[in-house]
Amino acid sequence: MSAPPNESTLHRKLEWIVPDLEQEATRLSLAEEEIELLRVLRSGTWGGYSEAVQEFEARFGSYLGGKHCITVANGTVSLEVALRCEGIGPGDEVIVPPYTFMATASAVLQTGALPVFADIERGTLNLSPYALEAAITSRTRAVIPVHFGGHAADMDRILDIARNRSLIVIEDAAHAHGGEHNGNPLGSLGEWGSFSFQQSKIMTSGEGGCLITGDRTRAEKARAYCNQGRIEGGAWYDHHTLGTNLRLTGFQAAVLLPQLERLHSETLCRERNAALLRDAIQTMNGLEPLHPEPYCTRHAGALFLFRFNSSRPRFDKARFEAALKAEGVPVMETYPRPLYRNPIFDSSPFRDTGCPEAEKACSEIVTLPFRLLNGSPARIDHTIAAMEKVLSHTERDF
Ligand SMILES: *Cc1c(COP(=O)(O)O)cnc(C)c1O
Repeated sequence: MSAPPNESTLHRKLEWIVPDLEQEATRLSLAEEEIELLRVLRSGTWGGYSEAVQEFEARFGSYLGGKHCITVANGTVSLEVALRCEGIGPGDEVIVPPYTFMATASAVLQTGALPVFADIERGTLNLSPYALEAAITSRTRAVIPVHFGGHAADMDRILDIARNRSLIVIEDAAHAHGGEHNGNPLGSLGEWGSFSFQQSKIMTSGEGGCLITGDRTRAEKARAYCNQGRIEGGAWYDHHTLGTNLRLTGFQAAVLLPQLERLHSETLCRERNAALLRDAIQTMNGLEPLHPEPYCTRHAGALFLFRFNSSRPRFDKARFEAALKAEGVPVMETYPRPLYRNPIFDSSPFRDTGCPEAEKACSEIVTLPFRLLNGSPARIDHTIAAMEKVLSHTERDF
């Protein structure tokens, strides 16, 4: 029996939202998630004290090179906890890039400290070490480099500057699960690394996050803060320091465990597909790929980013994106403005922060999701063909 036509049309449409091959892979892998979820369900311990949580923390910490891993409710509070553990608050400044998700700056605001925006590099879209250095004042306490899209920030230079100026480095590794800088896992290089497991990230439990640190005292502080000031081995109603409840649940850890097992092979797949896309885009008029720096020895591939800088007057980025979408390419929404030009900063001195590279990125960068990079080479071919088609039409029509 054949499916009614409207259903098959719908199916074809859905294919691009959840590509068929990916769906197949997801179906296979979900079996493992299902097993882990049932294990937690039947254990009766569903909350933060679930064995699955301890297992995930141990495994993710060891994946990051034998670090302490503290799971938390999301990848925004993780940044906030790191800042609080350093005693950062009112009167302090924390340097952040303006081309990132709001969390990087809002976590700073939540502590009462001020986020200070320093521009990004054109080539990587990551915090520029020069801009960082220029933004340091006597009040600066920390810097939060973001490994944007999965490309390592220039950590050698950032760590150098931070050591010289006694700044704490908190890596925002929300896009960086599985990525590396000169062979070292992203999130393991600063005093703190912060990961997100929110729905849109490479590893997800719907919501969730974690903190990484190599320092035992820092780890204990963060753990106590996230667990109402309890300490390891302490009694349930013994509260030693001010804290709150930011615990990840057992169900969330359960679905993260199999994803961690798959992370390495999926990262390699994304790297291969990203290279195919870059090579093709390199040859296209009006498009410009972003090439990874040599220190980015493993790109996490959370986002595939490239520049649209066609000079045809009536053909702008929005039109290009819409045309690609119409061809079935899953183009993502991009940041419409640098963080400092968001309404929240309207009546503040941040409003006038000038970061020309961040401004340019907002008007030029096109973003494709990691799910596309997880797909087959055929899907990459289709994406390339769609770009070529759209560009060839504009040669004619614009
Ligand atoms: C997603 C994200 C976060 C944290 O997000 P949550 O949704 O709170 O987990 C932090 N920084 C960046 C750059 C992000 O993209």
